[in-house]
Amino acid sequence: MDTNSSNFIIHKIEDDINSNKYSEEEIITRFPPEPNGFLHIGHVKAALLNYNIAKRYGGDFHLRFDDTNPSKEEQQYIDSIIDDLKWLGLEFDEPYFGSNYFDQMIDYARELINKGLAYVDDQTGEEIKQNRGDLFSPGKDSPYRNRSIEENLDLFNRMVDGEFQPGEKVLRAKIDMASPNMNLRDPVIFRILNGKNEHLNKEYHVFPMYDYAHPLEDAIEGVTHSLCTLEFEDHRPIYDWVLNNIDDFKEKPPVQIEFARLELTDSIVGKRYIKQLVDEGIVDGWDDPRLVTISGLRRRGYTPEALQDFSEEIGISKSNSKVDYKMLEHFVRNDLKNKAKRLNVVLNPIKVVITNYPDDQVEELEIETNMDNPEMGKHKIPFSKNLYIEASDFMEEPVKKYFRLFPGNEVRLRGAYFVKCTDVIKDEDGNIVEIHCTYDPETKSGSGFNKRKVKSTIHWVSEESAVPIKVNLYDNLISDETFDSNNFIENINPESKVTVTAYAEPEILNTLPNEKIQFIRNGYFNADPKLFNKDNLEFNRIVELKSGWRPPKKDKK
Ligand code: ATP
Ligand code: MG
Repeated sequence: MDTNSSNFIIHKIEDDINSNKYSEEEIITRFPPEPNGFLHIGHVKAALLNYNIAKRYGGDFHLRFDDTNPSKEEQQYIDSIIDDLKWLGLEFDEPYFGSNYFDQMIDYARELINKGLAYVDDQTGEEIKQNRGDLFSPGKDSPYRNRSIEENLDLFNRMVDGEFQPGEKVLRAKIDMASPNMNLRDPVIFRILNGKNEHLNKEYHVFPMYDYAHPLEDAIEGVTHSLCTLEFEDHRPIYDWVLNNIDDFKEKPPVQIEFARLELTDSIVGKRYIKQLVDEGIVDGWDDPRLVTISGLRRRGYTPEALQDFSEEIGISKSNSKVDYKMLEHFVRNDLKNKAKRLNVVLNPIKVVITNYPDDQVEELEIETNMDNPEMGKHKIPFSKNLYIEASDFMEEPVKKYFRLFPGNEVRLRGAYFVKCTDVIKDEDGNIVEIHCTYDPETKSGSGFNKRKVKSTIHWVSEESAVPIKVNLYDNLISDETFDSNNFIENINPESKVTVTAYAEPEILNTLPNEKIQFIRNGYFNADPKLFNKDNLEFNRIVELKSGWRPPKKDKK
């Protein structure tokens, strides 16, 4: 893992180290998910960025749950986030919880009140919104803006004690109702909500707003560099305002640095959309292999290495742009190339009979398990008279440049013999039921035979020993990328998951759950970690073999 591509962030941190603001080991970063859903590929980028920077300096990395919103947070999300990050290769101590700091946040609000920098407002939410003004006109001061410090303190304490109903009062920062930055027009920092802080299992009557809570969470933990996505750029002034006005932090406040969100073509990135798909049962849970949640990618068969390499390649930038999904696919292929067994599996079978092969003979051929990695050794594959090949590997009337099997043509059966098509057997309706071939015993693989050449090698399995398996083939979940919350459900691709029964060579029986295997010529597949067992040999296609993406050529030094 390298972080060279995150240059502008590294530069800022190195400036802070060179000017002795911090020593290297003092650098602390954090990844702060809200536990209201599972993590997705965008979070992979943010989490690895923060983690790798902390590692680079020998500093510290915090996983912090930003759990300041009581209604949407659940324990299952906390558990899945920890599990997914560990799987991704991150190491961290006990997670931190923003809600642990509620009492401190309340105290700091009292400090702001005492400094004349916060006031209790009795306006309704609607009035506050109306009086905020807009980009072209300044806001209007609340009639409660000039309450005395004593009155504000008293009212805020009573808010904390639960004397008022939600919406009756809020605590606002007193900044500037005419600021060109709307976020500085006296933002609400505490609202009344009667909820339980799930983590502390403690009742609170006021809950902090994000713009107030986040800088304090960072500062309390000693975070030095708070990396977040670009949409928070306009919130940086309020981040700084909060910390500059609190005595404990004003000397060395953390700094917020923004980077571009990750967006992917052909994918639904965004917790809100993913949650809707899960809630409406359009996908089979947060770990549905069609989702770009970490859990979904894991189940699909992606590896931590593939996600790390992908993150490294996309780097960090200051402008939003979409990354090609094919790039993600490239990295999983690249990782599995030398690791995965390569087996013959026929996804859409058609029967072949070798008419000159002895009826009851079965030959145990030896075949390399991964041609690119001889260390994986060899395994046996039975060859016999009756075989299956892929229906698409035969054409009765071949089109131009079709070099696979057709009447009169000869191909190599991978790891076995040359076979030549002599005949096609059809049923009454004219459907092909069997292809008849002859084989040439001299052409056995590995025999050194080189008198003739054939243009194609195709995969096959022997009918007698073929193992039926269940295979899930996936396509994009979304057929139109310009989706928004109103139209995206109707743009879901109904063919995004197709399940077929395929025939595999017997070596497939040695597969373990979550093992990745290349089905020759058909792609990489994962034995479903949840559903695969000896009575249900279920595989998910991770990716096809053909790539549409090539890594850019690196400049030669
Ligand atoms: P979403 O928009 O998908 O709901 P979020 O920003 O609400 O995501 P959080 O749980 O608040 O999700 O995010 C935790 C961290 O992950 C934040 O620092 C956020 O900026 C970052 N993050 C979220 N989505 C992306 C993304 N697509 N690319 C990069 N970083 C992201
Ligand atoms: Mg969020």
